Amino acid sequence: MKRFAAAVCCALALTMVGGVTLSARAELRAVKLFGRDHVRVRDWAAANKFQVRWLEPDRRALLTNATHRLVLTANSPQAELNGIKIWLAFPVVASGGGLCLSSVDLQTTVTPLLFPPRNPSGRKVKTIVLDPGHGGKDPGNRVGAEAEKKYTLLLAQEIKDLLKPSGVKVVFTRTSDKFVELADRPAKAQQAGGDLFVSLHFNATAEGRNEVQGSEVYCLTPVGATSTNTRGEGNTSRVAGNRHNDQSTLLAYQIQKALQAGTVSEDRGVRRARFAVLRDAAMPAALVEAGFMSHPVEAKKIFNSTSRREMARAIVKGILAYKRDVGG
Ligand SMILES: [Zn+2]
Repeated sequence: MKRFAAAVCCALALTMVGGVTLSARAELRAVKLFGRDHVRVRDWAAANKFQVRWLEPDRRALLTNATHRLVLTANSPQAELNGIKIWLAFPVVASGGGLCLSSVDLQTTVTPLLFPPRNPSGRKVKTIVLDPGHGGKDPGNRVGAEAEKKYTLLLAQEIKDLLKPSGVKVVFTRTSDKFVELADRPAKAQQAGGDLFVSLHFNATAEGRNEVQGSEVYCLTPVGATSTNTRGEGNTSRVAGNRHNDQSTLLAYQIQKALQAGTVSEDRGVRRARFAVLRDAAMPAALVEAGFMSHPVEAKKIFNSTSRREMARAIVKGILAYKRDVGG
């Protein structure tokens, strides 16, 4: 019931925003900084009924309303929403005695998370496609005798079991230790009529650097922006996956939030990348890096079925939270 109340609250807020858009547009005119459009955070907060106060003068600001807490920091692309780290496309800029947020980040990250997009009425999330990373000749990360491909498939099977009671259909891009081309994964998801695509992975660092730990969840980089992870970065123009940017951002956030609530590992944040499986996805999509196989404690959790099931449970919670947000 509490969740329902929160959702109603957001819907009302959105209506109000819609109501003041025309009059607020003049106040929210773009400010050009570093060649990019920005909005003044103070003006945006006033138009959207958020309170603003400095946590550190001229550096860190806290924006709050009844349901959300957003922290923005000058010269940093790291924001924090309700305790979860969010990587923005561009650093926040200090200017004119306040903070300015890029219009790209406002439109593609902050707005979809604060005012979740709703599916058209009657359109429900019925089919979820799980993509166990790697397989066959591609083992993914390797630590000792353990290969990532084995554990992504086990995690997918555990997620499927736990999703059963919710009545959704679950489809896999691979069900055995088989190699599947990256481009074939989103294609399979589309053929299956997937309403959601979740790619599952585990991280690892180079040998000798085993202190890094935590979960991170990727969604596709917005048009024209730089990725948090620039591996494979090239053209920054529009790709198929950008059509579902708002939903994908929300999906990545809800999964990361649930992973952080369900485990004690470090919050590495919601990140952006132009990974092939996200670029070509014809539906909202996220890529989960659920932990580091190279970290001694986290590795034990990944390789142990009981604690891995906890990760699966958290990912299911995130998927179902997204499903509720967009309207079922
Ligand atoms: Zn991987």
